[in-house]
Amino acid sequence: MPLYEYMCLECGAEFEKLVLRAGEAEEVRCPECGSGRLEEQVSSFASVSAGGAANCAPSGG
Ligand SMILES: [Zn+2]
Repeated sequence: MPLYEYMCLECGAEFEKLVLRAGEAEEVRCPECGSGRLEEQVSSFASVSAGGAANCAPSGG
């Protein structure tokens, strides 16, 4: 599965996106601020829980 991980270099938001075509990756934008400066990261299809991720998400009111 061509799942790519992107990290916004502007706000630092992380999100995944299914890139079917290579050219489509150019239309990837940050869903938070809408910036185009994203860092493409190769995400492994095998999710391995290493350690423990702390869910520290800001609660929106
Ligand atoms: Zn952003």
